[in-house]
Amino acid sequence: MNEFIKNYSSSEISTEFESNQLFQQFNDDLVSKSKIINNLEVVKTGYANGVAEGYPLSSEEKDEMIRKASHAFGLFLDALKCDWQNDPNSSDTPNRVAKAYVNDLWAGRYNEMSPITSFPSDGYDGIVIERNIPLTSMCSHHHQTIIGVTHIGYIAGDSGKVVGLSKLNRIVELFSRRGAIQEQLTSAIHNAINSITKGNNGVIVTIVASHNCVSCRGVKHKGAEMVTTKASGEFLENNNIYRKEFFDSIKINN
Ligand SMILES: [Zn+2]
Repeated sequence: MNEFIKNYSSSEISTEFESNQLFQQFNDDLVSKSKIINNLEVVKTGYANGVAEGYPLSSEEKDEMIRKASHAFGLFLDALKCDWQNDPNSSDTPNRVAKAYVNDLWAGRYNEMSPITSFPSDGYDGIVIERNIPLTSMCSHHHQTIIGVTHIGYIAGDSGKVVGLSKLNRIVELFSRRGAIQEQLTSAIHNAINSITKGNNGVIVTIVASHNCVSCRGVKHKGAEMVTTKASGEFLENNNIYRKEFFDSIKINN
């Protein structure tokens, strides 16, 4: 009995020691993953599809930004000969517009994403697909919304890693909640996933979206959709079974 207790205790101590090490490793991983996310920013700071100077912004800095942007939008409405200050429907519109940009439409320029943890694939060597991830963005050219879906596939392979499913959604949010052009947005999401699942055998990202700048202004064609795909690894090969599985799954012919 004593021996059992002794063994049990030493085993407990050993487990605790190991979990402390694991915990430390886990924390180190979180820190490094966070840095990886920051390193994914390849667009020049300050550009509409890049992060803002001083990113990430504190809540005080965002409040100050809303105040300045609200004032400027009032001047914009003045230039359009809109008596917004006396119109009960418009009197708070500059503030609403400024808040919408800072807190929602361009939130990816100001708010840091939570760290991404990746896990060993534990022998799973198939394709991971998350389809129909909602996408809301804004075109940098006209400041009109881009609405659509993102489909993501990747193959972890033997040396690759898998990420928590919702992290794929969060990556889409980080890069889409900015000014954007769809082509660069597709590459940014692809490259982020490629980096986080380092050692993968391939990553593919497809965005299907309609642009309000096409449907509501200019040519005014409703229903037109833009499809962009960025692929790497196995997904680049023609007649590849994973590429076929991906496009079969999202029902786009290629
Ligand atoms: Zn546009």
